[in-house]
Amino acid sequence: MSDAPLPVVFVGHGNPMNALAHNRYTDAWAALGTAPPRPRAVLCISAHWYTNATAVTAMEAPRTIHDFFGFPDELFAVEYPCPGAPDVAAEVAEVAAPQWVGFDHDSWGIDHGSWSVLTHVYPYADVPVVQLAINALQPLEYHVDLATRLAPLRRNGVMILASGNVGHNLGMMNWERPDAGFDWARRFDEAARSVVVETPGDVLRLVEHPDYALAVPTPDHLIPLLYFAGLAAADTSSTNSPRVLVDGYANGSLSMTSYTA
Ligand code: ZN
Repeated sequence: MSDAPLPVVFVGHGNPMNALAHNRYTDAWAALGTAPPRPRAVLCISAHWYTNATAVTAMEAPRTIHDFFGFPDELFAVEYPCPGAPDVAAEVAEVAAPQWVGFDHDSWGIDHGSWSVLTHVYPYADVPVVQLAINALQPLEYHVDLATRLAPLRRNGVMILASGNVGHNLGMMNWERPDAGFDWARRFDEAARSVVVETPGDVLRLVEHPDYALAVPTPDHLIPLLYFAGLAAADTSSTNSPRVLVDGYANGSLSMTSYTA
């Protein structure tokens, strides 16, 4: 194995219908899957497994979870039958220590925060996937710290895919402006870009941004970015400095920016 770590990626997943779409966002996600090296597994950190514990999926064959309402039948018909990776789940628990990570054998699986992106990255579902839950009981600092502990996985063949949205205010969405970004959404996204690309270890400064309350009414979709930033800060080799993969806005109040490192 080369010395270069596997990528860590943050994807702004946006609307679940992106699973079925082909647009400039999904094109950028698909390009991740064709770039070498091929990982032995993907560790996904999805905004949609936001729960009261730190856990990893540890089943051999995780189920596809359709965790949304009011979408077309064709979206409910999507299956992502990737293998699990109990060995990688065990490695996650090992590197996270002394932080405790539980093993989930039957409650979760692959949720749409993961599969709406993975259907583009690895469309044949032939790379094993483990999901890490976001512990909603923990402060934001915990997630940055846990992220740095996960860094050795990248040098052991594991790609890390964090899936959320930098700005994510569902209550303010404007369906008549599909590609627009409100002024406050743009300001927050641009502030996030400066810190994530230049000083990712300072990512928690974003909570002091004047537009934080509007852009991040709940932290679930931002926390995956904390994992990206923590991992980027933990690996300072110049060849892996964080950069924007694709950017844009949806419905005024969603940032679609994605990063890779
Ligand atoms: Zn989401």
